[in-house]
Amino acid sequence: MSIVVQKYGGSSVADPEKLRAVAQRVVATKHLGHSVVVVVSAMGKTTDQLLALSKQITPQPDRRELDMLLSTGERISMALLTMAIREEGEEAISFTGSQAGIITNDRHVDARIIEVRPIRVQDELSRGRIVIVAGYQGMSYKREITCLGRGGSDTTAVALAAALKADWCEICSDVDGVYTADPRIVPEATRIPRLSHEETQEMAESGAKVLNAQAVEFAKQHDIAIYARATSGPLPGEDPSSDGTVVQRLSPDASGLVVAVAGERGLFLLRGELPEAGALLSALDDVEASAKQTQIVRTGGSGWRVSMVFAKENLHQADAVRRILRDQFQERASLIEGFGAVSAVGAGINQDFRNTHRGQEALSGLGIEELFTSSLRSSWILPDDRVDEAQRALHRVFFGTGR
Ligand code: ADP
Ligand code: ASP
Ligand code: MG
Repeated sequence: MSIVVQKYGGSSVADPEKLRAVAQRVVATKHLGHSVVVVVSAMGKTTDQLLALSKQITPQPDRRELDMLLSTGERISMALLTMAIREEGEEAISFTGSQAGIITNDRHVDARIIEVRPIRVQDELSRGRIVIVAGYQGMSYKREITCLGRGGSDTTAVALAAALKADWCEICSDVDGVYTADPRIVPEATRIPRLSHEETQEMAESGAKVLNAQAVEFAKQHDIAIYARATSGPLPGEDPSSDGTVVQRLSPDASGLVVAVAGERGLFLLRGELPEAGALLSALDDVEASAKQTQIVRTGGSGWRVSMVFAKENLHQADAVRRILRDQFQERASLIEGFGAVSAVGAGINQDFRNTHRGQEALSGLGIEELFTSSLRSSWILPDDRVDEAQRALHRVFFGTGR
């Protein structure tokens, strides 16, 4: 029997009425003859509220306790959805991440899945039940509860799809696919019917929230097709790209065309000039602070100029980093808030300088601080409050008239 994994995000399960609508979509999938595994996120803004609650107790919550707290959000929605499915007359059972066999490393708050042992899920599917799994969480090999980093329920879904050898993995949210820009910010953005894993991963790493970067990386490694779709939309038909986006293995044509632009807010820049960079790198590793971008350049003298970009969302130890910079590096490096980034994504876009040139011109006057490029992406760092304007300007230059 074919296995289908569906993931429903926070906005899709935000209240009892929406939970009921999701339950009906799940049951309709089951009635088509599939075995169904459903991964759920926490209801609405629950994770943000839990985080804010912890900050009222302490500015620097312990990472283990934070995971204990944040993992409860998904437990609420898994139990409620299971009840809603039973109300629709189907047999269903819920599991936490650890019960579903999601094994992670021991890096609290942004753990990575290292193995999936879905024995209990398989048992329940063979009994004909629909299985509901709490997203965003697992259990470390030390048997501790861990969370996967913001947006991590997508990763739970893809990892389960891989372990169960599912026929497809559907990521359902409030938007009917992946667009050429965030449609909330750029109304002219259009849906992209098909995308490669590589380009989608770059989009996600550049801030396009619709799919989580680690989830896409997992899908690429295990050759899984992801269908990004609207929860309110139909079930995938003959051609799932006709009303959603299919992210799959596509032979890279490296045509040099920009496929999408993205914006990201809430970045910190760490900047400094140091006699040697090694001590800073190991001090940052000690507090498990991982950067999105790092650049280390030798200065005219004997030192090094360091520039790093951190996502505020996943940097829960900013105060510890500040302390390190003050105590160990006597303020020769500092962590500065208030930045964001906009990116252009596409295989081969930096084969020559034309795209960089166009982007640079489109963003002139918006306070660009730095530019990072790779074979798939160009990312400009600029003030946080210019990001939306910059995303619109980049979209206009790459997708407006004269593309
Ligand atoms: P969920 O809660 O279902 O996981 P998210 O909020 O994580 O949903 O992701 C969906 C949101 O992603 C959309 O509401 C949209 O505003 C945003 N988004 C950002 N970039 C894109 C893009 N390129 N295409 C589609 N949606 C995008
Ligand atoms: N609830 C978690 C978050 O808000 C995980 C997710 O939604 O995927 O980040
Ligand atoms: Mg999400």
